[in-house]
Amino acid sequence: MKCLMFEELGKLRATETTDPTYPVWIRVEATGICGTDLKSVYVGHKYFKPPTVLGHEFYGQICKAPENFPLKKGTWVVAAPYYECGECPTCKAGKGDLCQNKNYVEAGSFAEYVGVPENYMDGLFVLPEKKDTADYDVYALTEPLACVINGTSRLETIPGYSKVLIVGGGPMGALFALYYASKGIDAAIVEPNDQRAAKLRSWGISTVKQDQVQKGEYDNIVIAVNIASLVEAYLPLVRQGGTLLVFSGLPKGEMLSVDAGAIHYSEVSVKGCSGFALSHFKEAFETISGNEKRFRQMITHRFDFEHGQEAFDMLKAGKAFKILIGADIGRKEA
Ligand SMILES: [Zn+2]
Ligand SMILES: [Zn+2]
Repeated sequence: MKCLMFEELGKLRATETTDPTYPVWIRVEATGICGTDLKSVYVGHKYFKPPTVLGHEFYGQICKAPENFPLKKGTWVVAAPYYECGECPTCKAGKGDLCQNKNYVEAGSFAEYVGVPENYMDGLFVLPEKKDTADYDVYALTEPLACVINGTSRLETIPGYSKVLIVGGGPMGALFALYYASKGIDAAIVEPNDQRAAKLRSWGISTVKQDQVQKGEYDNIVIAVNIASLVEAYLPLVRQGGTLLVFSGLPKGEMLSVDAGAIHYSEVSVKGCSGFALSHFKEAFETISGNEKRFRQMITHRFDFEHGQEAFDMLKAGKAFKILIGADIGRKEA
């Protein structure tokens, strides 16, 4: 089958790879490029080493399944790239995102097909019927939104009191703001790039400059950029009793020095999160179903495998929000 292969650091190529071996096949319509994919390609990632096929934010159609499989061929689905076992002590404690015994799809989705096990039904969500298949595109945002919803579950937002500040207006920061907007909660983004900030404002998101942020103005601050010094810089600004969420990935061993007084006297919490649990994926799916138009604005480009390198380079340069890649979706700017 066709795929976009991550060949070596910084390099991707449209080529062929082996077909899935799992019994249920999903024909991938498109996959969103994730921050983790970007990091794997340009910086390197300990779990995703080349040569390999990346990609996990995908949707498509069931195209092959055993006879007794509950979904018919042709059914449009979005698949969680993984989900928790549901049975270990961690899962029983309600911390499914930390489960060490997860179920996974077979391989990366920058490919024509992704295989899933026969007992993967909990991880498959049937998409609402569409006249135009292009309209399914917004469901590529389900996985990143699930990660964002995991993040929002760490924050207490009190109507009429809470104000959320998101540091970083990349795709994840924008998803945080759109999610809060869909819930009627006041949220603003710090984004130094003027072009990006203007785009965010065109979607109804408020933006602020870092030097305009007043101490105590926001009770929840989300760090959606993988720069440790931002954690240190923003912690003293969190309103008393509030929370600072370390959302973007920071490497193991990286040290933070934080103001002890903020934590003790101002009762500010520092929390982190990574990935999602199935409940977050389900909520993301439902949130998108009810707000397709709002979320679709984020998809700015579509590329086929032949233009995969261009897509990654463009995202790295900060010239796009969410880019979708698919075998047959051509090359389009939204
Ligand atoms: Zn992702
Ligand atoms: Zn588990």
